[in-house]
Amino acid sequence: MKAVILEEANVFRVDEKADPTPSENEALVRVRHTGICATDVAMIRGLSPLVIAPITPGHEWVGTIEEVPKDSEYAPGEWVTMYPTKGCEVCAACLDERPHHCNSFRVTGVHQDGGSFAEYLAVPLDQLIKLPETLHNIHGALAEPATVGVHANLQGGMAAGKRVAVIGAGTIGSMIGQVARGWGAADVVMVDRMPARQKLAADLGFEQFVLVGDGDEQENLLAYDGEFDIIFDNVCVEQTLELAANSLKSGGTMVTLAFPHDGQKLVVPYMTAYRRELHIVFSRNYARGDWDHTFDLMSKGAIDTERMISGDYPLENFVSAMDDLRDKPDEHVKVVIST
Ligand SMILES: [Zn+2]
Ligand SMILES: [Zn+2]
Repeated sequence: MKAVILEEANVFRVDEKADPTPSENEALVRVRHTGICATDVAMIRGLSPLVIAPITPGHEWVGTIEEVPKDSEYAPGEWVTMYPTKGCEVCAACLDERPHHCNSFRVTGVHQDGGSFAEYLAVPLDQLIKLPETLHNIHGALAEPATVGVHANLQGGMAAGKRVAVIGAGTIGSMIGQVARGWGAADVVMVDRMPARQKLAADLGFEQFVLVGDGDEQENLLAYDGEFDIIFDNVCVEQTLELAANSLKSGGTMVTLAFPHDGQKLVVPYMTAYRRELHIVFSRNYARGDWDHTFDLMSKGAIDTERMISGDYPLENFVSAMDDLRDKPDEHVKVVIST
């Protein structure tokens, strides 16, 4: 089969790779659509400390069952995706169905080979997820990042009527905002430093936007009817953490999502956080059960996948898709590879 092979940072190509051979507890899946994630870009461009190589990356996918053991609940032709996180299966977190908290967890296509920038995958049956009919197409590839947004909202205690701000309005930020709106947020204000993100936010129906860079972020954010119940921070540098802490109501919740780099410490204005009894919660990946919320929201049309998909390239053109992502950051949100 054809697959992307990442040999080492910045050395990657589409090439022939041996077809996967499924074991008796696995299905052979024909990959249809895979989104390129910021994690993939970090791996490929040598910006990720986690990368192993050689590897075929890709974890935001939908596909169809090609072959499956006879007694399984799946049938050939059925559309599926995968819960890509696998833990040790014996620790407390794994037994509690939180493998993303397992000390030795692995995400297929990130920490282990077998990612979906390929024509075929062998997927353990217990990691398969059936897709609702509305996602039997390219839009299904956005279910995985949408689930990151679902998980962040669950972590933040999102409920109807809450006032929400989202710092970092790219793919994940846009998902977080749309989930919050889908769950009845009173207001959603998006915050970013890229003007192109303001256009994206407006197209997604988020007219309230703060452009970072002029030093008036705090004032501009609070100008939208005052303090917030929940602020999601996808950036997590000192400036954004401070903006979040200073813009929350007392008892409000800050949800941090950015991957920490280089021994980073979380620096928040302690007196503000202390005086207002703020909650600081962390959000990483998602639990398996979070997907049900995603399917519900996406089936209701709460996530505008049409606007978010900015490119659809065949697998053979993976390298030019990556170049376009790098060279035209203003034009792209989610680039999808179709096979
Ligand atoms: Zn991802
Ligand atoms: Zn475990």
